[in-house]
Parts: sequence; structure tokens; C-alpha cells
Amino acid sequence: MSSTEDTIAAVATAAGQGGIGIVRISGPGSLAIAGRIFAPRKTSGNISDLPSHTVVYGHLIDPADGSVVDEVLVSFMRGPRSYTREDVVEINSHGGMVIVRRILTIVLGQGARLAEPGEFTKRAFLNGRIGLTQAEAVMDLIAARTEEGRRIAVDQLRGGLAEKLDTLRTSLIDACALVEAYIDFPEDEIEVKTSGQVLGVLDSVRAQLQRLSKTYDEARFFRDGLAVAIVGRPNVGKSSLLNILLARERAIVTEIPGTTRDLIEEPLDLEGLPVRIIDTAGIRHSDERIEREGIQRSIRAIEDSDCILAVFDSSVPQNAEDRELLDRVRGRNVILVFNKTDLPCESFLEEPLRSEIPWVRISTRTGEGLDQLKALIVSTNLRNWSQEREGVVITNLRQKHAIDRTAEAIGRSSEALRADRPLEIVSLELRDGLAAIAELTGAVTTETILDRIFSEFCIGK
Ligand code: GDP
Repeated sequence: MSSTEDTIAAVATAAGQGGIGIVRISGPGSLAIAGRIFAPRKTSGNISDLPSHTVVYGHLIDPADGSVVDEVLVSFMRGPRSYTREDVVEINSHGGMVIVRRILTIVLGQGARLAEPGEFTKRAFLNGRIGLTQAEAVMDLIAARTEEGRRIAVDQLRGGLAEKLDTLRTSLIDACALVEAYIDFPEDEIEVKTSGQVLGVLDSVRAQLQRLSKTYDEARFFRDGLAVAIVGRPNVGKSSLLNILLARERAIVTEIPGTTRDLIEEPLDLEGLPVRIIDTAGIRHSDERIEREGIQRSIRAIEDSDCILAVFDSSVPQNAEDRELLDRVRGRNVILVFNKTDLPCESFLEEPLRSEIPWVRISTRTGEGLDQLKALIVSTNLRNWSQEREGVVITNLRQKHAIDRTAEAIGRSSEALRADRPLEIVSLELRDGLAAIAELTGAVTTETILDRIFSEFCIGK
């Protein structure tokens, strides 16, 4: 593919100051570029003659005037034993913004092109070093927000999912070959025994795909975070709850109702579950324009969230607004939170005691009940996780859609076979399923799919 014929470069380390900054170069021109801008301290002779996978100390030189830019360590990794399978050079300099930018400018001046986001990993995929689900795992690994998220991404990167999909794909190809053998000999009806064998394979593959698809329900939280919205009428203690969960002052706490006008979203690690906690404006009737907008956003946040903490103040009598909130969240994944247990209890909704809705009593002032609330958030959202985490899981919507499409096609195929419909139809549906799985693993892809996946990456990866 032509895109891997040129040489690309980018800063691989995060923007800002750090001990070390890395400029990475990949492509056929990497070694030649390095040879023109790097003066090794000891090694004499041509850099291209160095053995692969060596690290050399020296100076980075601006070829325009021969001045020294920085003291550097340069690593050389000759393809195909490199991240991209191409010749790769990494220049380790001191980690200052000015230094790495200057080095990048010099490298680009020597004929490299600035890499697009994710282009190094895209090349690793195009050159066959990793599959598509593994490429996706690279980004998930970098973006992982908790230890469990990291573990899932690294399993996927090491090929757990790719292997599982490969096994299923092979079974499907075998089943397809059996069916198509009978198409080629039209005088023969498919034997009952063969048909039973094919159906057995199809049912088993389909069940495994459906199980895999189901893992997305909970596994996705480890990639995207569990969106938890804190809602309730003004002054019940929503902002205080956010602050105590985050263990710092994030939201403004006042006695004046209606202070939080906009949504506040903050990341939180709850026993390894990455949570995006959203503090909303209090929901109440208001004539004030800005507050009304805030309230609208709160209502949308309820709709978009995965889990709702409906907060009530148990030190005052419950009112119509509390009951309205309860109606609004009914049927959703909600936890009722009765706050201010440090004050005498004035009222307590009876309903949760009689219903299945989980509830907890807390005080953001004393911290009472807080651990219980955290445990409740985890347990109500990760019901199956302890078993699922042992096997292969999927965290990504693209993967889920492709798996669902494959399972549906297999379902149609076995239905056709059971109904004694023409074998051409059985095979056509199977081939549909195979196409979906090939798109998933990257065996067959289009530019559009690749662009969509890799554009989410950061520069330099
Ligand atoms: P919000 O409008 O729902 O965000 O409520 P705030 O968090 O701003 O709190 C409203 C008022 O209730 C403030 O004066 C808080 O100090 C007070 N408050 C919040 N939580 C508690 C609690 O657990 N006990 C007591 N006694 N007061 C609380």
C-alpha cells in the first residue's frame, strides 16, 4: 500500500515537560535521515551498518548550521523486527517542548512526513504485525483509566479476542465448505447426517458469539466509563456528594438553591470501575432562563446516564418535586440516596422499602454510608463481571456490532437449513456472517473503516 512507502515522524511522548521526549521515525528513509542529523559519540562509520536494536549515545545536530540541538540516545530497529515492521528510529532527547519540536522540525526537513494520528499502529496493522482488534487495544491500553481497564486492553493486545474470533471463523469456513460441496453436486440432497453436523457447528458458534456480545454490557464500562448522574431537587446535597466522592472540593456547595447551573463531569475510580460522575443542576420548577437550561441538561443527563443516584434530603419532609423525580427515574438503573442522616430524620420515602429499588442512607457531612453507596454502585452495575472477567470480553461498540451481525447471519443460515430451503441460500447467509467477522478482525477492511478507527488515536502512536 502506498501509504507505507514514505517515511513518517511524530513526537511520541506527551506534550509538556518531562525527563525524556521521544521523536519517532518509521519508514524506508528512517536510517538515512538519522545518519544526517545524528553524530554518535563513539561509533564511527555509517549508522546503517549498526546492528539492529542498538542504542547509541551522541548529539543531535541541526544540519543547517552544524549546531548541537541536544544530547540524545538514538535507538535503531530495523524492519521487520519493529513496531511498524519498517525501519524505525527513536530519538530520545531531554523532554522539553522546545527541544522535541525542534528535533521534529529537523526530521521533517530531512524528508519525513508528519504522521497522522495512529499512523504507526496503522502501519503495524497494514504490514500484518497485528490484527485490527489488537490495534484497537493499543489505544484502549493508553486510554485505560483503571487497573482493570488496563488488564482487559492488554489481554486484547496479546491476541485473546483475535484468537477466539479466528477459531470461530475457522469453524464457520468448515461448515460453509460442507454446505457448498453439496451445491456443486446438485443431484445430491444434503445428507441428514451432514446437515445435523453443520447445524451443530452453527448453533455452537452462534451461542459463543452471543455470549461474547453480551460481555459488552459490562465490559464497556472499563473502556468508556460508567456514566453516573447525581440528580435531585436543589439543596439535598448533590454537590456535597460529588465532592466527598471525589475527596476534594469540585462543585460549589451553598445554601442557595439553584447554584449548580451546568453539568459537572469528573472521573472517579471505584474499586477498579472507571466512573464518570455527573453532578446536575437541581431539578425544580424555575422561571429563570439560565437555570431552566441547566434543568433541561439535567433531564438529558438522566436519559444518557448508565446509572442514576437520586438524592433526597431526609431531614425535611418530602415534597412534590421529590415524588416527581422518583417517577422520572422509575424503571431506570437507579439508586436512591437519602442524605443528611446526621440530622433528625423528618421523612423517608416508604416506597423503596417495599420495592426492589436499591437504596442507601448517607451523610456527606460525617461520611456515614458512603462506603456502602460506593459498593452499591459497583454491585448494581457489575452483576456478571466476576465470571466474565475470566474469559474473553469485548469493550468496543464496533466489535459488538460486527459480532451481532455475524450471529444474526448464522441464525438466518441455520433457519434456512432447518427449513430445507435451497443450499445456495444457506451458504449465502453464511458468507454474510464470514464477511462480518472478516471486517471485525481486519482480514478485509475498507479505507473508511480504518480511517474511523485510527483517527481516534493520538499522534505519535
Ligand atoms: P445541592 O444543591 O443538592 O448540590 O446541595 P449542596 O451540596 O449545595 O448542599 C446544600 C446544603 O446542604 C449545604 O448547606 C450543605 O452544607 C448541606 N448539606 C449537604 N450534605 C449534608 C449532610 O449530609 N448533612 C448536613 N447536615 N448538611 C448537608
